[in-house]
Amino acid sequence: MSSRIISITGAVIVGLIIIALVATEWIAHTIDDRLNRVIAHEPYTVSPEAQVLHSRLHLADLHGDSLLWDRNILKRHNYGHIDVPRLIEGRHAIQNFTIVTKSPSGQNMEENTGDTDQITQLVIVNKWPVRTWGSLTERALYQADKLHRFASRSDDLMVVAFSEDVAALMTARNGSASPVGGLLGIEGSHALEGDLANLERLYAAGIRTVGLHHFFDNALGGSAHGVSKEGLTDFGKSVVQYADQLGMIIDVAHSSPASIDDVLELATRPIIDSHTGVRGQCDNQRNLYDRHAAAIGDGGGLIGIGFWDWAVCESTPAAIARGIRYAVDVAGIDHVAFGSDYDGSIKSPLDTSESVVLIDELIKQGFSDEEIEKISGGNVIAFMERNLPHRAQ
Ligand SMILES: [Zn+2]
Repeated sequence: MSSRIISITGAVIVGLIIIALVATEWIAHTIDDRLNRVIAHEPYTVSPEAQVLHSRLHLADLHGDSLLWDRNILKRHNYGHIDVPRLIEGRHAIQNFTIVTKSPSGQNMEENTGDTDQITQLVIVNKWPVRTWGSLTERALYQADKLHRFASRSDDLMVVAFSEDVAALMTARNGSASPVGGLLGIEGSHALEGDLANLERLYAAGIRTVGLHHFFDNALGGSAHGVSKEGLTDFGKSVVQYADQLGMIIDVAHSSPASIDDVLELATRPIIDSHTGVRGQCDNQRNLYDRHAAAIGDGGGLIGIGFWDWAVCESTPAAIARGIRYAVDVAGIDHVAFGSDYDGSIKSPLDTSESVVLIDELIKQGFSDEEIEKISGGNVIAFMERNLPHRAQ
């Protein structure tokens, strides 16, 4: 071949690579935008009373899947639900960044198997390292590392992994709306790939909330949306006990009622349900029975009320506040929080910058300022300071 042909061939290959990179970037952005919508609405009108109260609050949210997407959360976006500028605008002190590692195709509330997985395609389109393509543990570690890297590049974001970090966060905020504390959690312990030793790797990466299940039964036992509807396996029980021992926080979101019964019997520390509804307000198999909500409260735990239709049966700020009212009446004022499921492939009536509208709806529900302070963030801040492990001296 002449050198002229070689250089033309080279130029074509480089051109094709550039086109492929631009195309995958566009596809990644489009997927994120399409799956994480805010329902179109006129700007919310909020009472002056709510605005004044909101301006001195520190909010918190127990569940957001933002690390799954190809999004620089340090920049403001006009799509999706969470980024740091919008967290600051909403006055969020703590956001739990929950990590999704596997999600079946044709996902539905009733019954799914773990035979298929849509996250693999997303991982490739989002250009994650090859080690994440076939390993759920690596997908979890990669997303945790993303948060650490974002935090290292910004004064507005810090990772919260220890009790002392919560105190440092609140001192640094000193009444202002920055920095934001990012917690790390997993959504589904299939991320352990059946190996208890991987729990230590996740702990070392700063992951602190341990969701046992997602949409399908896994090695730990039955999901609310799986096939068996059974409780915890022996491996599931050993994960609960070891996570407890490490000072991690068990999250029963998506677990079957039988699995929740087993966790309540085994756990020696308070547990959470990071994103849920309550059946008394919105009756479906996604949501908590009163007896489970009451037991989580009795044990000193937290219930994060979700913002999407499966959680509160109607995607409106008023319905979210009604779910919160019901949960408070069952579990107690110190045990209810926000659990948005932002960026979790849901349609939400608001994004994190618009949280003041929820303060207004909680006022309309008859909650006092002190009660709203607890629900909107105080409960999570106090819980994390109390239940996250202490930094080794
Ligand atoms: Zn979820």
